[in-house]
Amino acid sequence: MILVLEDEITQDQKSNIRSILFTEGCVVREMTATGQNIIGALGKVGKDVGFYEKIPGVAKVISISTAFKLVSRQMHPEDTLVQIGDVVVGGERIAIIAGPCAIESREQAITTAREVRRYGAVMFRGGAFKPRTSPYSFQGLGEEGLKILAEVREITGLRVVTEMTSTAQADMMMKYVDAVQIGARNMQNFELLKCVGRIGKPVILKRGLSSTIEEWLMSAEYILSEGNDHVILCERGIRTFEPYTRNTLDLSAIPVLKNLTHLPVIIDPSHATGIREKVIPMARAAIAAGADGLMIEVHHNPDEALSDGAQSLYPKQFGQLTRDIYVIAPVIGKQLDFDYLDKATAVDHLGKANGTGRQRAAFLGEMGTFSHKACTQYFGDKVTAVPAPSFKTIFEGVKNGEVDFGIVPVENSLTGSIHENYDLMLEYDLKIVGEIALRIIHHLIGMPGAEIEKIKRVLSVSMAFQQCRQFLERHDDWELVTAKDTAGAVRAVSEAQKMTDAAIAGKEAAAIYGMEVIAESIETNPRNYTRFVIISAGQLQKGPCSKSSIIFSTGNQPGALFEVLKIYADHGVNLVKLESRPIHGKPWEYMFYVDLEADAGSKEFKPILDLIKAKTDYLKVLGSY
Ligand code: PEP
Ligand code: MN
Repeated sequence: MILVLEDEITQDQKSNIRSILFTEGCVVREMTATGQNIIGALGKVGKDVGFYEKIPGVAKVISISTAFKLVSRQMHPEDTLVQIGDVVVGGERIAIIAGPCAIESREQAITTAREVRRYGAVMFRGGAFKPRTSPYSFQGLGEEGLKILAEVREITGLRVVTEMTSTAQADMMMKYVDAVQIGARNMQNFELLKCVGRIGKPVILKRGLSSTIEEWLMSAEYILSEGNDHVILCERGIRTFEPYTRNTLDLSAIPVLKNLTHLPVIIDPSHATGIREKVIPMARAAIAAGADGLMIEVHHNPDEALSDGAQSLYPKQFGQLTRDIYVIAPVIGKQLDFDYLDKATAVDHLGKANGTGRQRAAFLGEMGTFSHKACTQYFGDKVTAVPAPSFKTIFEGVKNGEVDFGIVPVENSLTGSIHENYDLMLEYDLKIVGEIALRIIHHLIGMPGAEIEKIKRVLSVSMAFQQCRQFLERHDDWELVTAKDTAGAVRAVSEAQKMTDAAIAGKEAAAIYGMEVIAESIETNPRNYTRFVIISAGQLQKGPCSKSSIIFSTGNQPGALFEVLKIYADHGVNLVKLESRPIHGKPWEYMFYVDLEADAGSKEFKPILDLIKAKTDYLKVLGSY
């Protein structure tokens, strides 16, 4: 049983609670975990929950049936997000940790770190104290290795993690690294677990070679019970009778854990399979199964690696893998953000420049809309999301400096372009600084206990009705009512409290208003993605960009458009989108919107831009990102 204490509890009230529990014969542990002040009463309690709830100072009582308490979902229904510098593990952005098995030299670490960062890793891994099966194998560089890790962080901006094998290393870990790893062989080294619980650094807790999920969670419980709830679980394969792979990757641990615990779960396919070629497919599968991140061994020259070379990816292979994950992640509602670290720095810099300390980003509608989700997926919790009533007010807000960013949808994979935003982009002198694609999964949402057979009226935006046409055709007696945005539709249903009303929206909106999903994924086509762009008054100061958006118009003579497109073709510039829009007040004359795979603001692109200028009447670079 866990007693969650009131924030303003007095010392006397606390002593009283302790003495009651003591008399009951419980082992009493007082702690701060998962952000709350709690008292854990372990052992059999004599009275029912209601009795303990009435003790002054007690906010609520949670009776937990499993052996693990603090790590259980019952204790903390929301997902825990573990923050390591700018990186958040457990949110909607996939965290990729990569690096060699062991730090071998400064040169090896820095070269590999630069490579993995280039391909989308946000943290660097590397062992300095290696728990090797043979005492004659390379044991790691010890403190020297930790110093190299700290230097890698300085040079690359990657956060660094390493394995801690003894409590004697605690001070060194505090000094040099951002997170510590407890290796599979030490998962049940309880003194070590208590120690990392006390030092408070984020912990990556690997699953023991032959541990059950419950034993693993009990080990995590040790860390949390010492007051450290920054714990990430890492499945790395377990011993089975199967010799074709080094271990057997237990991917079903992901959904099992997601049910049992609030802690984030990552997968290490490298130690799980032990074979380079097997790492990539298992990494893809892990993300599809709902893992929050990956830990992957990469070496700039794996053939010469001092440990685990056979399972280490070549940097290029790692790059291919992250591209695959970039495509897979939105299918399950997540993102792999290649700009993760640069963006965090650029946004921080912007905050310091404008003196507010925190940036604001406007999105259409209210909390819980898909635009809101796009905003939180793009920025994490770096910026404050601000609801706006229309696209025009978003552009106005950015222009006037009321907000630093705007997030607007520009196209949907099924219903096409959102022309209003293309027109606004032409009208306002703002920059596109980023983009994000979101899979749009619609649910039918109603009051708790509502039944589909009793629904009479459905509220949502017209685009959602279009996208759920087949489902709605099966219920052609329903009255469809257009709302301003999807979350607003859910709010309206929750306010009306009618069991015969429902809304079509994302699951985030259902959660915000305490409503229930009556029918899941009701969109006709599952390939339903919306692409949003991020607009700002100026270009963000970050590294090289891979994509740009440009608007131009040409004269009205034969071959005018062809001549511009030929310039792109001649210079090998790949166009990923071409869209035409009528020019206001000039019938049958058009503006062309182009997205291209190049950094239009770079020195190298300048000569191409000059050629295009010469062939166009009007040219505007909307931004590079
Ligand atoms: C490692 O990550 O380098 C390692 C030794 O992992 P594990 O503890 O999972 O074997
Ligand atoms: Mn290894």
